[in-house]
Amino acid sequence: MIEFEIPEKIAGICTVIKSVADNMMRPVSRYFDEHEHEIPWDYITFMQTATRAMGGSSMAPSEKREGPRLGFQRLAFMVEMLSWGDAGIYLDTPGGMLGSAAVSATGTPEQKERFLARFKNETPTFDAMCMTEPQCGSDTSAIRTTAVLDKDESQWILNGEKIFVTAGHKAMVDSKGFIVIWATIDPKAGRAGMRPFVVEAGTPGCQVTKLEHKLGIRASDTVSIVLQDCRIPFDNILGSPEVVTDKATTGFKGAMATFDATRPIVAAQAIGLARAALELLKEMLTEKGITIRYGLPRQKLTSIEKDVIDMEVMLRSAWLLVIEAVWMMDNGKPNSLESSMCKVRAGDVVNKITQKAVEIMGPLGYSREHLLEKWFRDAKISDIYEGTGQINRLVVARQILGYRSSELR
Ligand SMILES: Cc1cc2nc3c(=O)[nH]c(=O)nc-3n(C[C@H](O)[C@H](O)[C@H](O)COP(=O)(O)OP(=O)(O)OC[C@H]3O[C@@H](n4cnc5c(N)ncnc54)[C@H](O)[C@@H]3O)c2cc1C
Repeated sequence: MIEFEIPEKIAGICTVIKSVADNMMRPVSRYFDEHEHEIPWDYITFMQTATRAMGGSSMAPSEKREGPRLGFQRLAFMVEMLSWGDAGIYLDTPGGMLGSAAVSATGTPEQKERFLARFKNETPTFDAMCMTEPQCGSDTSAIRTTAVLDKDESQWILNGEKIFVTAGHKAMVDSKGFIVIWATIDPKAGRAGMRPFVVEAGTPGCQVTKLEHKLGIRASDTVSIVLQDCRIPFDNILGSPEVVTDKATTGFKGAMATFDATRPIVAAQAIGLARAALELLKEMLTEKGITIRYGLPRQKLTSIEKDVIDMEVMLRSAWLLVIEAVWMMDNGKPNSLESSMCKVRAGDVVNKITQKAVEIMGPLGYSREHLLEKWFRDAKISDIYEGTGQINRLVVARQILGYRSSELR
C-alpha cells in the first residue's frame, strides 16, 4: 500500500536537506551557472559528511532491511529537495550516482562490496555511467565500444569513445572513483553482446578528453572519454562471468534494470526544479498583489490563476507517479512501465512549468536578476538523459500494448 504521508524517517532527512538547499545551494546557484567547470567543493565536502551521517545518498540504497525498505523513496525525496536547491549542483553530490546504480542493478554481491565500499569513506568520491557514443544514443544496441578478452592475462581490453558522461571528470580526475562502461563483447550480436564493465580512475588507456559547455545544469561536468587498449581485470565485468558465453539478452536486461532504478530519480530531479519555479512564480505574483483564489469556479478565475492551478495539478500528479515508481523499487516489484511513465511526465511538466513561469513574469522571468531563466535552461535535460521523452514514450506504449521492441520502434 502506498502511503501518501512522508515516512517519519524521510521527513527528518528532508528538513536537513532543505537547510542545505537554502544555505549552500541557492546562494551559489548563479555563481556556478556562470562559472561553468568550477567545482562547488564546499557543497561537496559538506554533503560527504552529512550524507554519511544520514545513511548515504547513493543510487545504490543499502541492502539492509530495517522495517519497510525506503531506500529509493528516501532517495527520491532527497533528490527532489536538492534539485529544488539547484539541479546542477545536485549532480555534484558525492557518494554514488549512475555508475553505482549500474553496479547495484547488475553486479554480484562481491562486486557491490568491492566497488561501492569507497563511498562510505570520508573523501568525496564519484562515479559515472557511460552508454552514449558519437554514433549511438537512444538505440543502445548500436554501441561500438568493444571489450575483448585476453585469456592469458585474464584481462579485458576496452576500445571506443563515450560522450556526454555526467560527472565523468569528477569520477576519473577529481576523485578515486569509477565509471561503468557499456561495451560489446560481440559487435555482430547487437543487444545480446552488451555488457557493463567497471573502469577505475587512473587506469591506463582511459582518458577524459573533453568537457562540454552546456545550456543548463552548468554546475555539473559532462565529458567525453576515450578508451584505447584500456586493460581492466577480468572480474570487472559486472555480473556473473558466465554471462560472457550467454547469448541471451542478459547485458541489455542489465541496462534496462539500471534505467528502472535511475529514471524515477531523474524524474524526482525534474519535480524539484519545477517546484522551485512554481514557488518563485507564486511569490513574485504575490509581491505584485496577485493572489490565487483557490476554490472559485473555473469560469471566474483569471487566466493567470488558471495557469498556476494547472501547474500545481501537473506537478502533484507527476510527483505521485514518481512515488509509485520508487515505492515499487523498494518493494521489489517490476516497475519498468511506472519508471518510464514518471520520467515522461516529469520531463514534460518541468519544461511546461519553467517555460510558463518565464512567460508569465515576462522581462523578470527572462532577466538574470532572478533564477527563473536559469531553471528554464536547467529543465531541458530532464527530457533528454536516461532516455529521451520519445524513447520513454515508446517503452510505455510497448508495455501497455504488449509489443516487443522489434514490433514498435
Ligand atoms: C547534459 C547531458 C548529460 C548526459 N549524461 C549522460 C550520461 O551520464 N551517460 C550516458 O550514457 N549518456 C548521457 N547523456 C546522453 C543522453 O542519454 C543522450 O543524449 C540521449 O540518450 C539521446 O541520445 P542521442 O543524443 O544520441 O540522440 P538520438 O538517439 O540521436 O535522438 C535524437 C532525437 O531523435 C529522437 N528519437 C530517437 N529514436 C527515436 C525513436 N525510435 N522514435 C522517436 N524518436 C526517436 C530522440 O528522442 C531525440 O529527440 C547525456 C546527455 C546530456 C545532454
